[in-house]
Amino acid sequence: MADTYLNLVNSPLPARIAKALGLPRPSVLRRYTEGEVLAPHPVLVAGAGAGADALAEVLLGWDIEVRRHVLPGEALSAAVVVLDAATEPAELAAPMLELGQAVRLLVPGGRVVGVLRSVADASGPAEAAARQGIDGALRSVAHELRAGATANGIILRGEATTTDAATLAALRFFLSGRSAYVDGQFIEVSAVPTGSVTDLAAATAAAGEGVSDQPLAGKTAVVTGAARGIGAEIARVLAREGARVVAVDVPAAGEQLAAVANSVRGTALQLDITAPEAAARILDHVRERFGVLDIVVHNAGITRDKLLANMDAARWDSVIAVNIASQLRMNEQFLASDAFSDTGRIISLASTSGIAGNRGQSNYAASKAGVIGMVRAQAAGFEGTGRTINAVAPGFIETDMTARIPPLTRQVARRLSSLQQGGLPVDVAETVAFLAAAAAAGINGQVVRVCGQNLVGA
Ligand code: NAD
Repeated sequence: MADTYLNLVNSPLPARIAKALGLPRPSVLRRYTEGEVLAPHPVLVAGAGAGADALAEVLLGWDIEVRRHVLPGEALSAAVVVLDAATEPAELAAPMLELGQAVRLLVPGGRVVGVLRSVADASGPAEAAARQGIDGALRSVAHELRAGATANGIILRGEATTTDAATLAALRFFLSGRSAYVDGQFIEVSAVPTGSVTDLAAATAAAGEGVSDQPLAGKTAVVTGAARGIGAEIARVLAREGARVVAVDVPAAGEQLAAVANSVRGTALQLDITAPEAAARILDHVRERFGVLDIVVHNAGITRDKLLANMDAARWDSVIAVNIASQLRMNEQFLASDAFSDTGRIISLASTSGIAGNRGQSNYAASKAGVIGMVRAQAAGFEGTGRTINAVAPGFIETDMTARIPPLTRQVARRLSSLQQGGLPVDVAETVAFLAAAAAAGINGQVVRVCGQNLVGA
């Protein structure tokens, strides 16, 4: 369902009327296009210390014009503020105030990216206060930005540095149009053991100009619920990045499924993921055709909304069965199989409803919060291996699922985010593809919201 208000308000006369009346003025977002230049204008790298210096060097290697201080009047594509050395709140003033000057100069669709260390690793209350303070400040900046610009953060865990492969992969993602609808979010990165297979693959993939435009070449990906909506777009983006895609959906969606599979030169597999033999059928399909299963995207999901007072067992049970119980069962079987790669990736679709709760969605929220619980627990089990598991939590995305929301509620829901619009399926798909790549080896157990900094549960 097209967002007609967004299109209208981006033409001259209605734009002036909307401004005069103080109505929301969502911008057309800068999304990824083939051959995208990461930063056509200079990028500010603010912050002092070895971490900031090293990161500035890397950006120069990416052919980006780097500034260490704001030059009055010079337009900026992005501002990267490196605060990895902050030990107490008083140290935040200088870099944050410099960032304040920079945001005035950001081009439409500009980016702010903070790099900080994890509160969990802080040596004491003052350091923890500084680190948590950066979190609050960056989320506020995200609320303040206009014209489709976003602000996000990269949290360095343990020994991770500003130039580790996963840090750079996250930075490239945030700077690019791929993260158009990711706003006010933090992604935690860890260092992967030096010399490990994943480390080498990640380093190659994150090395800047040598970055492949097909980082998933040679990988086999299974996407459930791929016949339409977000799943179909995930299939397309993974295929664009070089993956062989197995598109899975229920037999009733067979025709649409075949069309999607054909369009990405993948294969179609009709099955209901709640069937006990679902994982075995996927594994057989992959083993026969491609050998190894590298990427699993648990995307299939349903809603059966009712206030809890009016909820019946059928609605509750079906949502739990499709959205979480099937994923638990399938993961168990994938992990028990030698066909699942040692550098395997599992990416599971959660929802902002699973973080904040939502009226009429107690069953759905239970299933999606369940996904988050499952991902965090499994991630702990993957620690020290080459495998990762992460969740992507969409907010309001323009699909058949949200087209069923009554028109007025839908209009309001779209505007309830910093970007004042719904996201597109491709925004979710780009985030899934980023997490699926070798370069994301140090990103495990994260819940990445693709919600335009939705005000619900922010
Ligand atoms: P959609 O309803 O458009 O598509 C879901 C697909 O899953 C359909 O093709 C459907 O046939 C398939 N499916 C359902 N049950 C299945 C089963 N038992 N076996 C195999 N396939 C099955 O939904 P969407 O909007 O594209 O959502 C995709 C995912 O993103 C879901 O997990 C959803 O909960 C999540 N999500 C969506 C939004 C949004 O705004 N659209 C927001 C948050 C989360």
